[in-house]
Amino acid sequence: MNTPSHAILNLAILGKVTHPEANLLIVLGGILPDIPIFLFYGWAKLIAKMPEEQIWLQGYYSPIMQTIVAISHSIPLAVIGLAIATFYQWKILQILCLSLILHSLFDLPVHHDDAHRHFVPFSNYRFISPVSYWDTKHYGSIVSLVEILLVFGATIRVFPGVESPVGKGLMILVNSLSVISYLYFYVYLKYKLWVN
Ligand SMILES: [Zn+2]
Repeated sequence: MNTPSHAILNLAILGKVTHPEANLLIVLGGILPDIPIFLFYGWAKLIAKMPEEQIWLQGYYSPIMQTIVAISHSIPLAVIGLAIATFYQWKILQILCLSLILHSLFDLPVHHDDAHRHFVPFSNYRFISPVSYWDTKHYGSIVSLVEILLVFGATIRVFPGVESPVGKGLMILVNSLSVISYLYFYVYLKYKLWVN
């Protein structure tokens, strides 16, 4: 699932059971597992000057990157973190871990070739989903549309409760950009391919 979608969906689900002050933590937990991927992409593109194909077909699948991404998407590690946080009554860590768990639960059913190892360090099992959130060979255009609709619904739900104008602006931006990119990738480019 796309990173900004995680932030909004997690906010809609966890925001109801926590305080408004927790919103930022929920958003952080929602995006944190994907941060290593963005950092890697920035490094590969700007510093290592790798071509796009090499970034996603080789660099991203290097053992070190795969280990980092598996750890950041590990459900058991986040559950252990939650158990420790609950034992010591560390509210901040509790909310953060809940949001991390939710991120992985949303990623689990929508990754095909790029499935994460969500059960590291206990198992290297990867659930190869029949559907993908981006790959058109695996219903990417449908899953992507469902994701946009879910995020739109979640935005309507949380929007009134978000006090910060920056937060509100970001939510409008995420929704608009996902519609624009959907229209570009799945409608315009497909139409172009079709007429050619
Ligand atoms: Zn992720």
